[in-house]
Amino acid sequence: MTTIIEGGTVVTLGKKNRVISPGAVVIEGGSIKDVGPLEEFRVKYKSADVLDARGKIIMPSFVNVHHHLYSTFARGMSVPGTPARNFTEILEKLWWKLDKALFREAIYYSALIPLMECARKGVTAIIDHHESQSYQIGSLDEIKRAVDEMGMKAVLCLGTSDRYDLGIRGIEENERFLRKESDNVRGMVGLHASFTVGDDTLKKSVKLAEEFNVGIHVHCAEDGEDQAKTMKNHSKSVVRRLKDAGALGPKSLLVHCIHIDEGEMDIIRDTGTSVAHNPESNMNNAVGYSRVLDMIGKGIDVGIGTDGMSSDMLSQMRCAFLMARHERKDPTVGFMEIPDMLIGSNPRVLAKITGWDIGELSAGNPADIITVDYDPATPLNEDNFIGHLLFGMVSANVDTTICNGKAVMRHKKITCMEESEIASKARETAVKVWEKII
Ligand SMILES: [Zn+2]
Repeated sequence: MTTIIEGGTVVTLGKKNRVISPGAVVIEGGSIKDVGPLEEFRVKYKSADVLDARGKIIMPSFVNVHHHLYSTFARGMSVPGTPARNFTEILEKLWWKLDKALFREAIYYSALIPLMECARKGVTAIIDHHESQSYQIGSLDEIKRAVDEMGMKAVLCLGTSDRYDLGIRGIEENERFLRKESDNVRGMVGLHASFTVGDDTLKKSVKLAEEFNVGIHVHCAEDGEDQAKTMKNHSKSVVRRLKDAGALGPKSLLVHCIHIDEGEMDIIRDTGTSVAHNPESNMNNAVGYSRVLDMIGKGIDVGIGTDGMSSDMLSQMRCAFLMARHERKDPTVGFMEIPDMLIGSNPRVLAKITGWDIGELSAGNPADIITVDYDPATPLNEDNFIGHLLFGMVSANVDTTICNGKAVMRHKKITCMEESEIASKARETAVKVWEKII
């Protein structure tokens, strides 16, 4: 089937960004067939199905390079005891209690809800990091089920740690799932963080990643405690420990990298490892600022994730932009670099890990496309698109989200399931999860 998305302003992004207005994008099967001017394409593809995009931007969909779908049921959850006073207590009092309470059905619904939110926000591919202490084996199948039903793309892993069962089932689940990869769902080897992973678990995880030619997805120096405990127990810093273990490389992803030194940044660059920056989460946990502009300046691929805080990549990008200027006390920085993390680095990081090439509207690429309600009030062209993205489109609604040529959301309606029914089932499931939180 051939479909023409027509009438809006096409923004191709990619190496040579083109703006075509009014423009059209033709998709056939799961791929982009042609990109060009509306007038010519209306004749050339007159028998194609039409998806109306007048008054909208037609552009590549977004990628989220670090998500925690399992965090859904934390919304509105009350946690017993006194409020968490630091990062370690946030883990102990909130996240480790929640992941211990999850069961099979809860994992499925906690994935489905944010995946629908991803569709609403124009995200078609996520790199997820899962944890569910009491239901590990088979947990990634439940997330895959939700991803498949939504018709999206994902890279999944279980964040193994030694805080229970010495990481045995975590490694087992990562291995089991790596044997079941499919076209739209891939695996990585997940580790929670250096300070919760002993040498034996780290060694086995690296061996597993090498066996399947995949990378390691791990939180890195999110809080000073990760560095302090790693130094105390292993006499080296987090990045140096991971490098010495063979955990770094172009397919690996380090999340946060807040409390690292210059030498560690150089190691990340030299190994081709990618970094995921999560500004909202970092501020929420009050763990500090990741020096993303320094890392980008060194040539490191630094992408943007949400760390489970939301599924909204545009607002996350804007947060990263404001945070960079605020932290540097310099209104001249970040204007090009920070938006490029979203529209350039995120697809590049995904491509390094999976080979999927979805950041550019170009013939032959997968048809991962969004239309956004944005009829610009000022001229929009190749030179000023970033200004529109940061200060205009950031609060615009996504109208249609297409993944692999199929509309996951069409004119603001999720196509494959009834959202209210899923929300209702999720609420029932959340009550059962909350009852287990003690
Ligand atoms: Zn995280």
